[in-house]
Amino acid sequence: MNEKILYNIIDSELLDSHPDEWGVRVHSVNPQSMGFATTLTPAVISQAVDNNIDLLVTHHDAWEFMLEERHACIELLAQYHISHIWCHAPLDAVDFGTASALLTTIGCKIIQTIAKRDGRIGELPERLHLSEVIKLLSGQLSESPCRVYDVNRLVARIACITGAGTKIDYLSEALNYGIDLYVTGETNLYLLEYAGFRNVSVLIYSHNYTEILGTQNLSHKVADQLGIKKISRHDRTVNDIHARIMMHFKVFVHHALRRIFSNRRAAENVGSGRKT
Ligand SMILES: [Zn+2]
Repeated sequence: MNEKILYNIIDSELLDSHPDEWGVRVHSVNPQSMGFATTLTPAVISQAVDNNIDLLVTHHDAWEFMLEERHACIELLAQYHISHIWCHAPLDAVDFGTASALLTTIGCKIIQTIAKRDGRIGELPERLHLSEVIKLLSGQLSESPCRVYDVNRLVARIACITGAGTKIDYLSEALNYGIDLYVTGETNLYLLEYAGFRNVSVLIYSHNYTEILGTQNLSHKVADQLGIKKISRHDRTVNDIHARIMMHFKVFVHHALRRIFSNRRAAENVGSGRKT
């Protein structure tokens, strides 16, 4: 495995036009087992360690704004020799990516790309009640929507923007295509107010779960490239209390060992009279 692996999967023009939106960290040259999750966190890495995973594929990196959580992720990946591939905007844009994967998994045919390639519009083969669409989506995502805005209209045409769902201009753009339903993984007060104003149904699921199917598609393509047979999903139990306790324990041990070794080095340098 090398840093160029995504060029075998995603169009080079798309990758080169988003140089800060994807990355590869190589800590295991010949990975044998893969885990995937939407978001890189210490809890996800802890699950990877528990499952003897040596390659993680995620949609989100541990972003700069995650502060010390980002540094913990980077240190844990190196410490446990787990390579990491992440792909954000290019994965939203490709046809096997986040919004496409979510819509096609409930039987929609993709008819339009919207929201600067972040979103898609799909059409169901027949009109369904909103409750039936919720049943289909919730079954695929293993969660129920956290918000439902129902204007009591049958649903055939669905717009999906998995992660940037607070953007009212994306909802406005989608409405130009006669949608019956807007599905997203983020919201705020104003998106729901605007949906009420424009009289369109909205379903809000979690950001992580709406993007997991696109991430799963990417992970299978990476696995094909590397001949990896063992693939597992690693964010299903991100709130699991055991995973959290283990993660905090591993981070604690890691920092304790670092402190011990740096104190020992400092003592040796003082003893030998060397400048530090
Ligand atoms: Zn996202």
